[in-house]
Amino acid sequence: MVEPSKIKILVLDDDTFMLKLLSKMLLKQGFTSVSVHDNGRDALNQVDDVAARPDLILLDLNMPEMDGIEFVRYLVERDFDGSLILVSGEDERMLKTTEKLVRAHKISILGYLHKPVKPDTLAALLKKWSQPVKPEAAQKIKKKYGVDAVRAAITEKQLVNYYQPKVAVTNGEVIGVETLVRWLHPEDGLVAPDQFIATAEAHGLINDLTRLVLTGALEQASIWQQSGLTLRVAINVSMDNLASLDFQDLVVELAAKYKVLPKYVVLEVTESQLMKDSRVPLEILTRLRLKRFHLSIDDFGTGHSSLAQLRDIPFDELKIDQGFVHRAWTDETLRAMYDASLALARQLDIEVVVAEGVEDQDDWNFLRRTGCDLAQGNFISKPMRAADFSAWLQDWRKRIQDTRIVVDT
Ligand code: C2E
Ligand code: CA
Ligand code: CA
Repeated sequence: MVEPSKIKILVLDDDTFMLKLLSKMLLKQGFTSVSVHDNGRDALNQVDDVAARPDLILLDLNMPEMDGIEFVRYLVERDFDGSLILVSGEDERMLKTTEKLVRAHKISILGYLHKPVKPDTLAALLKKWSQPVKPEAAQKIKKKYGVDAVRAAITEKQLVNYYQPKVAVTNGEVIGVETLVRWLHPEDGLVAPDQFIATAEAHGLINDLTRLVLTGALEQASIWQQSGLTLRVAINVSMDNLASLDFQDLVVELAAKYKVLPKYVVLEVTESQLMKDSRVPLEILTRLRLKRFHLSIDDFGTGHSSLAQLRDIPFDELKIDQGFVHRAWTDETLRAMYDASLALARQLDIEVVVAEGVEDQDDWNFLRRTGCDLAQGNFISKPMRAADFSAWLQDWRKRIQDTRIVVDT
């Protein structure tokens, strides 16, 4: 057991009386490294400070500005690898649901505490605290790259497009692909996008990056077209791409150059980014939609969009976040999120619903039972180089013959 005084604990609650009470209890139990915050922003500042990053956060769910669930989303964005204890006056069901949501985000959770908090329940939960398992955790900590390296990767064209198929759930037909960028690093090998996209966004490099990805994707789409394969090609668009009208012109121009019809170009924007921003991005999206490019709302379920916000933009596609797809067949909370997303999409007349993160036959069977349109995930194929696509396609067509994929079980 680690010395209690070595564990950095952060307590977040808008109620200052609770903060005092909890920190007193913690001190009494030997946890001397405790900091308290009454709002999410201050707490996140501490999480961002490497030296002060807490090992454990006691999180109140109901807070007036940033609530506990929103706070968890920011922790996910920051790859928070500590643990959480939820504290709330809410009823048992609410706490349980939130606990499952947190777990779906792969954040470690020790459990939850009802208010008023009792010292021995707190002590029992704290006993469960253990340091992140070292070997695995060490592997999980991914190297992040600095701005100069990322800039060089773009100018030296070290970025490569991978493509992951989206297939129809009813008959397995391949409808499109999502373009996922990778960095072929001269020393480190293949580097995943979450290790450099944020840097590109933060330093004004995302437009150059997206231009490269889009050009490659459209060129590839035209190659596929010429070989008789018409695929909808999706790319991921960052909010910063939508800050100027240049982006719209670029999309129009490149689609014309490679002779790809707008309806075969899908622009994926994540739900959480969409809700943050103001009018310009919405205007550009709407204009692209008017020109018949397809718009997709990505990672659905992880942001907090309202019905009105969703109605404002005519999306063609909604992608249910993988956190709510894999294992939804066996987990009530995931299932509830999945069902709600599907129902919402239908209500809004969104034409296509895609389930992401389909990892196994059970997930696939579940989609078939629930009437989702398209599926994407490792069960169908991992993202691959364009050169491997036709071999995969042949193999997939053979797999479709396998009754377990498209015939009801
Ligand atoms: P995303 O758009 O949600 O993409 C799906 C991610 O899920 C991909 O990760 C994909 O490899 C992964 N995935 C696919 N199937 C499965 C599965 O069955 N199980 C699991 N656990 N994961 C699966 P990847 O390629 O690492 O991309 C991560 C994120 O980086 C993407 O999330 C996207 O937001 C961003 N990204 C990728 N390419 C670009 C790009 O060109 N521009 C921008 N702005 N963002 C990009
Ligand atoms: Ca995406
Ligand atoms: Ca996604």
